[in-house]
Amino acid sequence: MWLTQLLQRNQQCFPDRTALVDAHRSVTWAELHDRVTRLAHGLSGRGIRRGDRVAVLSLDRVEVLETYFALARLGALFVPLNHSLTPAEVTGIAESCDPVALIGESALLERHPDLPARIRVPLDGAEFAALCETDGPALPDAPAPGPAEAPALPDVPDDALAAILHTSATTGRAKGVAVDHASFRAIALGWLTQARPTDDMVLVNCCPLYHGSMVVSLTYMAAGATVVLMPGFQPQRALAAIEDNRATHVWLVPQMIRFLTQAKSLRSTDLSSLREVLYGAAPMPPEVYAEAVERLGCGFRQVYGMTEVGGPFVTLGPDEHPVPGTSDVIPAGRVIPGMSVKALDPKDQEVPPGVIGEICARGPGLMSGYWNDEKATADITTTDGWIRTGDLGFIDRDGRVHLIDRSKDLIIRAGQNVYPREIEQALRSHPAVHDAAVVGVSDADYGEVPLAFVVAEDGTTADEVRAHLTGLLAAYKRPRHIRFIEEVPRNPAGKILKKSLPL
Ligand code: AMP
Ligand code: MG
Ligand code: MG
Repeated sequence: MWLTQLLQRNQQCFPDRTALVDAHRSVTWAELHDRVTRLAHGLSGRGIRRGDRVAVLSLDRVEVLETYFALARLGALFVPLNHSLTPAEVTGIAESCDPVALIGESALLERHPDLPARIRVPLDGAEFAALCETDGPALPDAPAPGPAEAPALPDVPDDALAAILHTSATTGRAKGVAVDHASFRAIALGWLTQARPTDDMVLVNCCPLYHGSMVVSLTYMAAGATVVLMPGFQPQRALAAIEDNRATHVWLVPQMIRFLTQAKSLRSTDLSSLREVLYGAAPMPPEVYAEAVERLGCGFRQVYGMTEVGGPFVTLGPDEHPVPGTSDVIPAGRVIPGMSVKALDPKDQEVPPGVIGEICARGPGLMSGYWNDEKATADITTTDGWIRTGDLGFIDRDGRVHLIDRSKDLIIRAGQNVYPREIEQALRSHPAVHDAAVVGVSDADYGEVPLAFVVAEDGTTADEVRAHLTGLLAAYKRPRHIRFIEEVPRNPAGKILKKSLPL
């Protein structure tokens, strides 16, 4: 229900203001509300009902969110598919949700002819346009009454499922995370208490809507912001979108910020409208942050989130960011009101402030569960309802969450904990090293030792790199092996794909 209320409220408060923009078109809140209502009737006419899953395969564009809001109106579930996966992977994800319909860009639908779905609708064709013209019965908020025989739209409660979002699957198969309307409401409202919303916000969204981070766009929409959708990330285009739309906010992952600050067109781009760069989904390297502060000249807000927790649940505002150069540590931030966070030891006991444990979250934002996987849901949840994030970190005395590493990536060398991220950061601080990824490999003497994959300028030697680390890391943390590679494999969110390293 909440997603429907959001649209109704915004079309009443500011009907003529722009709600969504993409490369093809833009819609006002009044138009969006009207098209979504009609689309809901159109989809209802095609037999889509409450609880049905509808898969969406598209680059980010207005129709994707129109479809989402229309499905929410029907109580049907939005299942965005990651179009950058292989056809077999996409089919696997789609099959696990058994969708009744597939809506997508025609070019992508053609590339995936085997996707299971009774109804296939290209969202860039005449059929979708016609669905957005469907009249319903007289609705209290409809401008004109429609035909009497059309069924009324259902009243969807807040605990109805709204979407199945898939995790980024850096370590295994993507899992379907089922979230309800109340989860979105909890995250959006909690977040907006921290984000200093104003009436004139324009958010350029550089992160794909098929990811759990789509909640960031919904959150700013809830405050009436205009959201600009991008069909994939490209630094020049992102900069142009900020300038052309006089954006106040932009949502990116750290890897994208790196490309943005290095873009040739940065110097000639007017970024004076920009208030906050929202970044997250992967760790922010301190050197990328320092460069971005210098070149972008605006505030930075960190987003720490997880699909299973309902999206972003911890944030660090601009005032709490360190001055670059004074500290290498950027905390993830504080939990948003309405959600709770704590760090647990392996026996599920809370650890004191400053002690490293597994970061866990609880509250109304949490997923309802993994889709059709009770065992996996039980595995990730403590007996008293906390979700284990799989992130190791600590909470300081002031309530700030600090992330150290993924628990799966932890290296145990002769009984001592070694955190790959700390080594990666030390490696990257060498002037000739561009990027690095560290994994544990088994070792006869120590059980497990760090192996470093390093991307460096031609001619850089392992000895030089070792000499650099000597001053930065205790001996037991220094990599036993160093290998030079061309590029660190990363997913679109900028997370290192450790299983894809040439071991
Ligand atoms: P996903 O469920 O695909 O959204 O991935 C969630 C994971 O992304 C978290 O458990 C973290 O490991 C990582 N992550 C998200 N935000 C941040 C952040 N701000 N800093 C570091 N890691 C992050
Ligand atoms: Mg995950
Ligand atoms: Mg994430």
